[in-house]
Amino acid sequence: MSVRIFGSPPRYHQGPGAVLGIGGIARALAETACVIVDEGVHGIVAGPIAESLREAGVAGRVTPFAGEITYAAIESLTAALRADAPGLVVAAGGGKALDVGKGVAARLGVPIITVPTIASNDAPTSASYAVYDEHHVMVAVDRMTRNPDAVVVDTALIARAPAHFLRAGIGDAVTKAFEARGCLAGTGLTPFGTRPLLTGGVIAEAGYRTLRAHAAAALAAVERNAVTEALEATVEACILMSGLGFENGGLSLAHAMTRGLVKARGAMGAPHGEQVAYAVLVQLAVEGCADDEILDLMGFLREVGLPVRLADLGLTDAAPEEIDAVARLTMTAPHIPNMPCPVTAENIAAGMRRVEDLAASGRSRPDEAADASARSAPAFAPAPGGTA
Ligand SMILES: [Zn+2]
Repeated sequence: MSVRIFGSPPRYHQGPGAVLGIGGIARALAETACVIVDEGVHGIVAGPIAESLREAGVAGRVTPFAGEITYAAIESLTAALRADAPGLVVAAGGGKALDVGKGVAARLGVPIITVPTIASNDAPTSASYAVYDEHHVMVAVDRMTRNPDAVVVDTALIARAPAHFLRAGIGDAVTKAFEARGCLAGTGLTPFGTRPLLTGGVIAEAGYRTLRAHAAAALAAVERNAVTEALEATVEACILMSGLGFENGGLSLAHAMTRGLVKARGAMGAPHGEQVAYAVLVQLAVEGCADDEILDLMGFLREVGLPVRLADLGLTDAAPEEIDAVARLTMTAPHIPNMPCPVTAENIAAGMRRVEDLAASGRSRPDEAADASARSAPAFAPAPGGTA
C-alpha cells in the first residue's frame, strides 16, 4: 500500500459577475499583480478585472497575449514581467492565456488566479499546462507544483460565449467518470503520480450525473445568453468536477486516444472535448461493456450534439488502415495501463469498429431510459485485490 495524493485549488468562485470580486481574492494573495489576458477577450474582461484590482488596492498591469504557447513565448513573457516583480499572476481568457499564465507563474514562483471566459475544458482548475511548438504540435504537458490558488468563473461571461465552447467542455467532462473507473481498476497513476484515492472518482461520477441531468438545458440557455441553474450546474461539472476528477481520479483510454485522433484525417481539427467524447465510447467498447450501456451514452452524446462516430469528428469513410493508425498511436499514451484489462492496438481498432457499427445500427438507447444514467454511471468500489 502506498501513499496517495489529493490536490485541488484552495478557492473556487463561480457565478454571474464573479470577475468583479477578483480584487478581494487577489488582495489576500499579493499586493501587486500582472494580468495576462487573451487578446480576443481583452475588450470584455481586462477593464472589469483592472477596476476590481484597483478598488482593492492591488497594483496591476494588463498584458494581452496572442499566439501559441511555446517555451520561447513563456520565457519571453516571464522575462518581460519579472522587471515588475509581480506578487501574483491573474490569467484570463479561453485557454491559451491560462496556460501561458501558469507557465509564467511557475517560473516567477508566485500564485495564480485563473479566470476562464469559456468552459471548453477543465484546465482552469488543473495544475497542468500544455506547451506547443511553432507548428501547433503539443510537445509537453508540464505541471505547476500546486493547483491555481483561485479559480474565478463568471457564468455571465460563459453564457455570452458561443455554445460550441460549452459543448466541447461537456465532452471533456463526460469522460472523467469512466476514465477514473479505468484508472482505479487498472494499475495506473493520477497526474500526481500516485494511485488514486477514492475521492477523485466520486467527484467524477457526480460530474457525469450532473451533465446527464443538466447539460442539454445548459446548452439551450447559452443559445439565448441566459444564466440558469442548469448552466451553473453544467459549468461546475465542466470546470470543477471534471478537473478534480481527472487530476485525482486519473485518465484512461478516452484521453489516450487523442494521441491518434490529433493526427487523423479530418478528426485532427475537432476540438479536444469532441475527440474525447467519441473516444469514451471506444473505451466502453474495449472494456467489453454491453451494447445497451454504450447506446445509452451514445444517446446522451447525440442529445447534446457531441460526436458518436468517426465521421462526426470529420474522418469520413475511415479506411481500415486509418483506424489501425489511430489505434497504434493511442498505445503510445501514458494512460494505457489505466484500464481494467490489458489493451492492445488490435483491441482498440476492434472497439472503434464496434462503435461505428452501433452508431450505424439505428438502435437507440434502451426503452427504460428514464433511469439509464443511474444504471450506466460507474460504481467506485475498488476491485478486489486491485490495489497496488
Ligand atoms: Zn481533456
